[in-house]
Amino acid sequence: MRPSPIQRITFAGRSFFLKRDDLLHPHLSGNKARKFHFLQQKRDIKEIQSFGSLHSNAMYSLSFLAKERGLSFIYYARPDPSLKNPKGNLGAALENGMILRPLEDWPYSKELSHTIQIGSCLYLPEGGRCPEAEEGIAILAKEILEWAKKERKSPTVFLPSGTGTTALFLQKYLPFQVYTIPCVGGEAYLWEQFEALDPTAPKPIILPPPKKYRFGRLYLKLFELWRELKAQTGVTFDLLYDPVGFATLLHHDLLDEDLLYIHQGGIMGNETMIERYKAKLDKIAKTDKGAQ
Ligand SMILES: *Cc1c(COP(=O)(O)O)cnc(C)c1O
Repeated sequence: MRPSPIQRITFAGRSFFLKRDDLLHPHLSGNKARKFHFLQQKRDIKEIQSFGSLHSNAMYSLSFLAKERGLSFIYYARPDPSLKNPKGNLGAALENGMILRPLEDWPYSKELSHTIQIGSCLYLPEGGRCPEAEEGIAILAKEILEWAKKERKSPTVFLPSGTGTTALFLQKYLPFQVYTIPCVGGEAYLWEQFEALDPTAPKPIILPPPKKYRFGRLYLKLFELWRELKAQTGVTFDLLYDPVGFATLLHHDLLDEDLLYIHQGGIMGNETMIERYKAKLDKIAKTDKGAQ
């Protein structure tokens, strides 16, 4: 894997730096390429099993890795209406040969935070939240350190968190302060994830978002912010994590030349989010007309 580029970007009149992990690999969205890097060395497996949401970037990335390596991939999830017409991550993962099973059949705890290998089958926790992820994230840290040395910078690093795996291991390997925000649960949930993964590692600072956003819910203000980001920077960000990230940075006035934002990919998941936002906007337009 070649290092991903770091670019200077301007948004809302502020300049900051952007680590383009979204450009790492066309089929392995950003931080999943880092978190699943350890799988490259796992030569003794024939099957991968994991669980989580039907829209997850981790699910899609695993389906791609499995296809490339000729492994079977079994994924446990709660069925939902998107199965009738699979798109985005789900559509692509099914095309890659992913086998779906009901969530109740997942043989381990949902809180599992390490991998389990039984014979040639590897069981992975939700979202790749496992100690082995450290290896690939250490490489990301090394790339950042090399850039900082060359450019004589000591940036503040920012990235939105799901399980917090990427933020925690980045902080472990960087002498710079790492800031993150909880996107999936609240601050307490994120702190628990940090503790479960590595109780002794220094922890990133958790910033509170300006308001409580439920993961996967639609917020027209966030969609507007995402569109504005695209219009002003030319970069497509993800629609689940990044808009909350930028809303928080703007709120705490942290967008400046000392900031390095990690773009963690996830663009494949945008298709279904955009569709949902369009449907919501159409509905609003219709009710507005009806009211006139
Ligand atoms: C998976 C993912 C995250 C969350 O990463 P964690 O290591 O679980 O915190 C953030 N952004 C994008 C785009 C992702 O795909």
